[in-house]
Amino acid sequence: MTQQPIPFLDLVTSHRELEEELVAAFRTAVRSARFIGGPEVEGFEREFADYCGSNFSVGVSSGTDALRFALLAIGVGHGDAVLTVSHTFLATVEAINQTGAVTEFVDVDEATYTMSPAALSEYLKACAKEPSTGRPLALRSKKPIKAIVPVHLYGHVADMGAIASLAAQYNLLVVEDACQAHGAEYFDESTGDWRRAGSLAKAAAFSFYPGKNLGACGEAGAVTTNDEAVAARVRMLRDHGQATKYYHDIEGYNGRLDAIQAAFLRVKLRHLENWNAARRAAAREYNSLLDASGLGALRPVEAAWSRSVFHLYVVRTKDRDGLGRHLKANGIDTGLHYPVPVHLQKCYEEWSPGRGSLPVTERVAAEILSLPMFPGLRPEQQSAIVEQVGEFVGVRTTN
Ligand SMILES: *Cc1c(COP(=O)(O)O)cnc(C)c1O
Repeated sequence: MTQQPIPFLDLVTSHRELEEELVAAFRTAVRSARFIGGPEVEGFEREFADYCGSNFSVGVSSGTDALRFALLAIGVGHGDAVLTVSHTFLATVEAINQTGAVTEFVDVDEATYTMSPAALSEYLKACAKEPSTGRPLALRSKKPIKAIVPVHLYGHVADMGAIASLAAQYNLLVVEDACQAHGAEYFDESTGDWRRAGSLAKAAAFSFYPGKNLGACGEAGAVTTNDEAVAARVRMLRDHGQATKYYHDIEGYNGRLDAIQAAFLRVKLRHLENWNAARRAAAREYNSLLDASGLGALRPVEAAWSRSVFHLYVVRTKDRDGLGRHLKANGIDTGLHYPVPVHLQKCYEEWSPGRGSLPVTERVAAEILSLPMFPGLRPEQQSAIVEQVGEFVGVRTTN
């Protein structure tokens, strides 16, 4: 080992820096004993909606619940099909299936690893129409398609303009999986503005799992939407379907956001812009170090219409397992996001379309490697990492 070990993610340092503020927030919560609902939850919801440029945000207990509740709230359920990608964390598909709908997959774009509008268009063109409603029927399940869930993977938004225009053409709703994209921006050609994830579709789901760009000190999530009725429905779903205590209009869930987590999130939200800026700076540093070492081909691609918040910095190379082992042997931790695409997971063996059905997803999943990425990552650590990448890739004939 040539240097101090470099972790994949350092959550300890940022929490040490915030310790006083977090402890103060905790003390306030304990003294008021308002653990469920109340001013901290409402305050965070308002601040997070403002941050995203969305009218409403509703705090829930995880990103998975956020996605499930958002889908249920827009009317997705039994009998529907929902289109998403397989190159994502499993929760995207769990949430869809647990509404009672069936998931069908479209492939990702080779450059951005997010939903390919071309693949989506091709899929929709191939669909027969339900005679009574004109809705497209999903290719495998033959169920009418209700919604599309693009995933803003690694902090890079999906091509929402192209996806929105296909959705409009086929009368489908769009829900963003923004669990990795707090603060990520998309250039909206129709308005000429950069707009944030969480404001780009009918509704969006965020996770505040501790390792996300904005993380709680435990489990938490939120739904954002501009639609007041959707926000009201999510508020009921997270709280056993009650709008008034003990009057249950629908059957819901126990999926609320803890007041203590909301208080922690309010503290951390004030730092999110700085943290995202630090991640973007670290990504630029990696890019220039890779370029300078003749390894530019490994770089992740940032589309012109995207301002990524680099939840992850993911390089691509044929022998990524070898590279991962070489870095590990030199004290550098890496990650795989994700080693097995959702459609090839054991739990979905029964209904999944199987190997060969999503060629880009399958190719990408075999070649990606996530390098250390967190706001406190230092340039000298990045130099050491890229030096080791060069040492491994350089001794091989291909990358
Ligand atoms: C983290 C994540 C989720 C799930 O969020 P939880 O808070 O862990 O439930 C969903 N989708 C994606 C893309 C994620 O990264």
